[in-house]
Amino acid sequence: MPVYDYDLFVIGAGSGGVRAARMSAMKGAKVAIAEEYRVGGTCVIRGCVPKKFLVYASAYGKAFKQAEGYGWTTKGVSFDWRTLCNAVHDEVDRLSGIYGKNLHNSGVEVIDDRAEFEDQHTIRLVNSDKTVTAKHILIAVGGTPARLDIPGDDLAITSNEAFHLDKLPEHVVINGGGYIACEFAQIFAGLGSEVCLAYRGDTVLRGFDDDIRAHMHEELKKSGVRVITHANTVKIEKTGKGDWKKVHLDTGDVIDADVVMHAVGRKAKTEGLNLEAAGVELAENGSIMVDKFSKTSTDHVYAVGDVTDRIQLTPVAIREGAAFAETVFGNNPTAFDHSDVASAVFTQPPVGSVGLSEADARQKYGKVDIYKSVFRPMKNVLANSDSRMLIKLVVKADDERVVGVHMAGDDAPEIIQAAAIAVKAGLTKGQFDATCAVHPTVAEEMVTLREKWVEPELGAN
Ligand code: NDP
Repeated sequence: MPVYDYDLFVIGAGSGGVRAARMSAMKGAKVAIAEEYRVGGTCVIRGCVPKKFLVYASAYGKAFKQAEGYGWTTKGVSFDWRTLCNAVHDEVDRLSGIYGKNLHNSGVEVIDDRAEFEDQHTIRLVNSDKTVTAKHILIAVGGTPARLDIPGDDLAITSNEAFHLDKLPEHVVINGGGYIACEFAQIFAGLGSEVCLAYRGDTVLRGFDDDIRAHMHEELKKSGVRVITHANTVKIEKTGKGDWKKVHLDTGDVIDADVVMHAVGRKAKTEGLNLEAAGVELAENGSIMVDKFSKTSTDHVYAVGDVTDRIQLTPVAIREGAAFAETVFGNNPTAFDHSDVASAVFTQPPVGSVGLSEADARQKYGKVDIYKSVFRPMKNVLANSDSRMLIKLVVKADDERVVGVHMAGDDAPEIIQAAAIAVKAGLTKGQFDATCAVHPTVAEEMVTLREKWVEPELGAN
């Protein structure tokens, strides 16, 4: 039997890799994890965590204004980008440190280096110019922001750089209409930048329920974001005036901006890993193909998280990492169930969603009943805000099972986490109805919706 340096070598110390490494080590495996940048990965270093701090920061802009409706005087408030960024970076440093400590405490060896395959069981550590061997290898290198193949593309930033801007942009053009584009559009708008979002489709947030998409499209506009639809950026050029650029859209619009940001999806970060040497096969889009146990085309090589084309969310990567450890080192084949994974978009107001959209449910089950409510939350009345809440239940008609819950409005991500338990458990509309409301809340609508939604006839008032 060959002798390897490690039972498990993990490439990439993000959410999925760290969880897999720690759990495998706790099951008795000898584990090393290599990270070329900083422990924590996209979520901690340049994603969910710092982004949410920016969302909190930008929400104050609106909150100060709204507080006046409640009797507060807020004259003279001001905002300092540097103070915010320093605080965010300090917290990111702290969290990255905790991740490193947790790995260490679990007995995992952390290697600060770039790792690439040399052959099926051998990893080359690029900077230290060393090789090590492992019985099992887990690829958890995540993704990287996609770019556009246009003249002047290098003048645009991505979400990676958005946390390191020297100053708050005056005028931002954001390309895309997904999670990152919508979140950052409102972050910058809330902090005081002028924001233009150029989206190639007609309604943002493709993939979400159509009512949520239409609702958020309007809310984006209400928050001051200029949304240009059916628009692709075709060229970016320097103006010669400081950081300013001219952004040319195929709609004919030319927009001056000091920051241009691409948020046009993320792709698997497999470049340079020398996966051919390991016999690991890729899908057409460059992601690593895996089976339900996260095993690649090579028996002892696995992959979890965004590098596989499943669901690009931190908690999913964590669960895939845990299932891997259980399968390989717990002697208990475990596949993570990717159905009914809830997600949130931290727009303002935010979105929370779990289960099937109305369109997907109709396609899958035929007849579905819709229960929905759009209303102005109580808080917004005195706050003089026109922002609305949308709550929608998608119910399978034959057995009344709630197969989708979709919300847009304050606290939607917090509420959807609880609703996800009900959807995952397969609860029925009757069981929702049997649950007594908590009053006065926005979430109570979830258990008080009694009338099936009937689409108003065209032309009716
Ligand atoms: P998304 O897939 O959400 O959105 C990509 C957007 O870019 C879409 O609007 C898409 O348009 C558009 N697009 C794609 N290619 C092009 C192109 N060539 N030219 C112009 N537009 C293009 O990706 P994001 O980058 O926003 O985020 C990546 C992933 O990260 C998300 O899918 C999500 O899973 C995760 N994430 C999760 C967050 C959360 O949980 N809150 C926050 C941020 C990211 P179209 O709609 O037409 O396809």
